[in-house]
Amino acid sequence: MATRKYFPRWLPPTPEQGAALKRIRGRQRAVLAWWIALIPISWIVIVATRSDALFVPLTIFWIAFGVEFTSRMVEIRCPRCGENFCRKTGSPYIYALFNRQCENCGLSLTPDETNRT
Ligand SMILES: [Zn+2]
Repeated sequence: MATRKYFPRWLPPTPEQGAALKRIRGRQRAVLAWWIALIPISWIVIVATRSDALFVPLTIFWIAFGVEFTSRMVEIRCPRCGENFCRKTGSPYIYALFNRQCENCGLSLTPDETNRT
């Protein structure tokens, strides 16, 4: 087990950490949008091709990429403590999409929340 660093949970992120947090938030939104897009896109494909022949391959393709994107997101390191930012112990994989806070050091994606006392 690596040495675990402790930071006060209220400590606001530095400008560099803030920029990294913005990237994490953007990634979360992009991956979430990818999952949500599966529904309208499969609809469009069925309507456009007037058959559901492409539905299964498209869904498999979409899910394969979605899992890849999601797993890459889980690997993102917290800009402050270096632990996996999005991973939450004991939670389903998909939870990484909604995690707003580093479980290890408490660094939050929403600066307003950290500044509130
Ligand atoms: Zn952290």
